[in-house]
Amino acid sequence: MAANQEEDLYEVLNIPKTATKAEVKKAYHKAALTSHPDKVPDDQREAADAKFKSISRAYEILSDDNDRVLYDQHGMAAFQKGTPGGPSNGGVDMDDLFAQMFGGMGGMGGMGGMGGGFDSNPAQRRKGEKGRNEMQQYEVTLEELYKGKTTKFASTKSVICDHCKGSGGKSDKIKPKPCGTCKGRGSTVQLVPVGPGLVTQKSVACSTCHGMGSYYADKDKCKKCKGSRTVKQKKLLELYIPRGSRQGERIVLAGEADQNPDDASPGDIIFELSEADHPIFERAGDDLHADLNITLSEALTGFNRVALLHLDGRGIQINVEQPSGKVLRPDEVIKVRGEGMPVKRSDSKGDLYLSVKIEFPKDGWLKDQAAVDKVRAVLPVPPEKKYKVGETPDVVDEVSFERVENLEGFGAGSGDPRAASAQWEDDDDDDDDGAQAQCAQQ
Ligand SMILES: [Zn+2]
Ligand SMILES: [Zn+2]
Repeated sequence: MAANQEEDLYEVLNIPKTATKAEVKKAYHKAALTSHPDKVPDDQREAADAKFKSISRAYEILSDDNDRVLYDQHGMAAFQKGTPGGPSNGGVDMDDLFAQMFGGMGGMGGMGGMGGGFDSNPAQRRKGEKGRNEMQQYEVTLEELYKGKTTKFASTKSVICDHCKGSGGKSDKIKPKPCGTCKGRGSTVQLVPVGPGLVTQKSVACSTCHGMGSYYADKDKCKKCKGSRTVKQKKLLELYIPRGSRQGERIVLAGEADQNPDDASPGDIIFELSEADHPIFERAGDDLHADLNITLSEALTGFNRVALLHLDGRGIQINVEQPSGKVLRPDEVIKVRGEGMPVKRSDSKGDLYLSVKIEFPKDGWLKDQAAVDKVRAVLPVPPEKKYKVGETPDVVDEVSFERVENLEGFGAGSGDPRAASAQWEDDDDDDDDGAQAQCAQQ
């Protein structure tokens, strides 16, 4: 498959990017069942074979936490190149990948023992192009996305040594010597782990000459960068998140990635916004959703009070009048126009949806028989049960009962897929039984 027309693994499994591990597994089971090559006529086998392979591949990557992070950040480039003996297909190479992951950004150091930095092999180096971008996930709260946020942080990055202008030498007159370690190639071959139990041969920049193929003798090296051509520099950067920004949106700090003397210009630092779950509000696009918790008395007679606090701390007052016995019912929905999330680059806002949740009184709320009679007198009288002719039961049994927490006991231990507990197991990690049960039902 050509690297530039790679398929989206999430599309292959037909799941959203936010799918949980359990959902990935479920989608894989479903896709694998419907596209298994053994189930199609001979003339379609080849296509089905390819489809099945890509489904398996998608599952393999998306079900592994590490691989999924790699895929989300770099796409299939993270897995295609660098396989032993694999042809160079012109995609992003592993050098770029590792450099993106570990280069530059402060706090991600400590990757010692893997050779001299992550400069790529000069043989593959695209000299004179823009440098690599650095991707970072940035978690934001819903409050921050509602109000907008500006944050400052210190970034440590490589900048071209201003003393030697990136040559690494003490002066222009002295020529560098060919490197003995790499015999002038600029790279050496190393075995590098690319996944659990998977190792690939990788050409890494020579640590003696920093990938140049030649280097200055100690006495001829630039005193400031000690021949490495770049120096580390701390810089204060500002990240501005406009109000109304969404999950997955990218904020680009142009040209703030590591500088490399071989690049025409440095790459960008790119932040991808990751919206944290909120305890009260759910968001979809520019709309918000929350529960509206009211009492039974309020559901029957109305209320006028601050019903919840908004993301900017404002109290949201709701006036529900219930003239002549109008009733708010459980899960009824109230829509408040213009109280959703701010719409980016505009003054308008989405809408706020509130689901009515009714809190019933606690046991023992009626103190005596007089109170019970009072409530009965106010509430509508239940209609007397009338049976149709011929349906009047001959025998009526008064039964005893107990109160239980939930339906868990319904069909428990019977192995029947319709048992309440069997449906819950389906949500667990181990859903093989659930999948079989679904098939058996059809
Ligand atoms: Zn220097
Ligand atoms: Zn060398």
